Amino acid sequence: MTASDIEFDLRHIWHPYTSMTNPLPVYPVVGASGVELELSDGRKLVDGMSSWWAAIHGYNHPVLNQAAKIQLDQMSHVMFGGITHPPAVALCRQLTAISPPSLECVFLADSGSVAVEVALKMALQYWQAKGEKRQRILTLRHGYHGDTFGAMSVCDPDNSMHNLYKSYLPPHLFAESPQCGFDAQWDERDIMPFRTLLEQHSRDIAAVILEPIVQGAGGMRIYHPEYLRQVRMFCDQHQILLIADEIATGFGRTGKLFACEHAEIEPDILCVGKALTGGYMTLSATLTTRKVAETISNGEAGCFMHGPTFMGNPLACAVAEASLKLLLHSPWQQRIKSIENQLKSELMPLKHHAKVADVRVLGAIGVVEMKQPVNMAVLQHHFVSQGVWIRPFGKLIYLMPPYIIQPEQLSRLTKAVSGSINL
Ligand code: PMP
Repeated sequence: MTASDIEFDLRHIWHPYTSMTNPLPVYPVVGASGVELELSDGRKLVDGMSSWWAAIHGYNHPVLNQAAKIQLDQMSHVMFGGITHPPAVALCRQLTAISPPSLECVFLADSGSVAVEVALKMALQYWQAKGEKRQRILTLRHGYHGDTFGAMSVCDPDNSMHNLYKSYLPPHLFAESPQCGFDAQWDERDIMPFRTLLEQHSRDIAAVILEPIVQGAGGMRIYHPEYLRQVRMFCDQHQILLIADEIATGFGRTGKLFACEHAEIEPDILCVGKALTGGYMTLSATLTTRKVAETISNGEAGCFMHGPTFMGNPLACAVAEASLKLLLHSPWQQRIKSIENQLKSELMPLKHHAKVADVRVLGAIGVVEMKQPVNMAVLQHHFVSQGVWIRPFGKLIYLMPPYIIQPEQLSRLTKAVSGSINL
């Protein structure tokens, strides 16, 4: 890329959560292969982000490339209204086979945020069809579910865009986030704020939505499986639907195929995205039970009211199917266990550093929470100079590498993190 390309980018192109008047620098990437990103000046960076937690098999994978090429020669897209096609059927077969058994019906959507919109609409239409006016959603503080309006309305109210959009967002219910860590001694008091809110508003609540076990972009918090087990139990007691947003945690990231498995529960609605296509392209899915699907379909509208233009995009479905097969045929549990062990041994010592508030590790997720917010531009520059790609946010420096990362590459990442603490 030329200097004029970069100049054009700065003046004309919006990047995620970035100012148009005072943008942070962007690094030109011209290729990516295995676990490395290649900058336009030829430097290679070990990727610690999996492109926002999606590229689980690394980049430029021959199997995924092949799946895309074969599908491209068949058809890259065709509408899904009144039409079906082999890649969508094959993918949905796979998805229903590996997800919790009660989730039989799949809605293919475009992105994580849209999968969440679809889940919320399913819950609302379900209660409408049952003739009950339940319109509130109960969720957790420190949650993150996406950037569209429905999704924003259930993101952490303090740590998100709630203030900017307050008057546009429906007033949902937010329980205190879980305090008990994944490995900590379970404390019954942890679930009380959730239980109290749920019981106070039980007749108004259509659904609970949460990120099971790991609250991602809202704070990288890792909580106790008993919390999730009890959420399921209280939802059952009050016939409230449980939506599990596994967009970040799905497909092995926490050491289980789905994070709900840590608590041995099944949600009524499940959202997946990100790693669904191995990070190749945007695709998500919202799965639900036969009961929810039939109730919606027997309601006033006679159908579920959603149907995007690129629904079931064949190219994305073909790559997603190949990605799932690749994952299931790989020693993914072993890989994630060794990443977890290495992250623990190389990051946990930072816990004693004066500037560090906490270090948390689960599966292929390693988090260093600082006491103060980090200077993103300074850290990013440091990481690139160390030959790694890590993008911190707020007080959090974290790693979510591709599952195929080798021990010496992972050490490069953890060394760069340790070296950044004093900056
Ligand atoms: N839910 C969760 C748990 C997420 O982590 C994200 C993305 N970080 C989303 C939803 C939104 O997904 P997308 O960015 O694909 O719209």
